Parts: sequence; C-alpha cells; structure tokens
Amino acid sequence: MDTKIFIGIGSNIGQSFENCKTAIERISSDKRADLKSISSFYSTSPVSDVKQDDYINCAVEIDWQGTPLDLLQFLNDIETSMGRVREEKNGPRIIDLDILMYGDGIIDDDRLTVPHRELHRRRFAIVPCIEIDPDLIHPTLKKPLSNFLAEIPPDQQVTRLEGINY
Ligand code: ADP
Ligand code: MG
Repeated sequence: MDTKIFIGIGSNIGQSFENCKTAIERISSDKRADLKSISSFYSTSPVSDVKQDDYINCAVEIDWQGTPLDLLQFLNDIETSMGRVREEKNGPRIIDLDILMYGDGIIDDDRLTVPHRELHRRRFAIVPCIEIDPDLIHPTLKKPLSNFLAEIPPDQQVTRLEGINY
C-alpha cells in the first residue's frame, strides 16, 4: 500500500540549511526509508513565546518499512546524534524532526500523535507538505490541508528560498 509519510524538518541554531540537509541525508541513508520527495527550503518566523532566530524549514515525503513508533525512534536518534538537547518547550533547536502525517493514519499514543497535533495551526508545516502534494487531506479534521492556511495568523511568515535546494 502507498502510505504517504511526511516529515517536517526545522532548524534555527548554527548552520540551519546544513543541519536540515544533514538530517535529510541521514533519513535517506537508512535502508528502511525511501525518500520520495523533498520540498523547497523556507525561511519561517518562530511560532513560540520564546524569543529566537528565524527557522529554516522543509518537508520530505518518505516510504517507511517499519512501524510509526520505529520511525519516531529513528528520527529522535538522528536529532540526538546531531546534538539536540531538549531544553525549554518551543525553544530554539539545532534540528527538529516531526512526523506530520502518516498516510491517513491516526495515532494517539503517549509518545506519538499523528497527524502532528499542531500541523493545521502551523504555516511552516503545511506549506512544504502541500508543495509536495497539493491534494493532501487532514485525516482527522477531514479537510484539505491547504484550507487551514486562511485561518492562520499572518504573523506566521513563511518565505520560499529561491535557488537553495537540497
Ligand atoms: P515539538 O516538536 O513539539 O516542539 P519536541 O521536538 O521536543 O517538541 O518533541 C517532543 C516529543 O513529542 C517527542 O519526544 C515525541 O515523543 C513527541 N511526539 C508526539 N507526536 C509526535 C510527532 N507526530 N512527531 C514527532 N514527535 C512527536
Ligand atoms: Mg519535534
């Protein structure tokens, strides 16, 4: 079966582009992961009460040979290997890897909520996903992902970076 899995990637510490690219390399180098598509890179304003630098965000679509929790563990291991330390909630981070959608899967586990619980409220997460697939439907809210953009405050800025690709 063709399960479209979308991973949101973000960084706002150090060499943010390079950090995102390194994460993509590490994802694609695992034999369980098959990289299907990579979005553009975007400069985005932080969605947080914590004052911090802008982010670089992108998304990738993958196939995954394993369970959703295996994927979460794999992504958490990449975050740790890249030096992520969990400090304040919504604070700056060297790399953030989130499972945004797992096909039309709905998961409500202590460790994993899918679709990501903030997906429909975050322009920086929606925009790269619908760049890859404009027809995505939010599995629990049952509306096109693109429909949520109109409800998101304009202070969430997302600017596509021309000429900078993976
Ligand atoms: P956030 O990305 O929300 O700012 P973190 O990256 O610190 O926060 O993640 C905190 C925890 O969120 C992770 O340890 C993970 O167990 C949990 N989590 C729940 N659902 C997801 C998801 N869909 N993708 C990634 N992590 C998730
Ligand atoms: Mg995260």
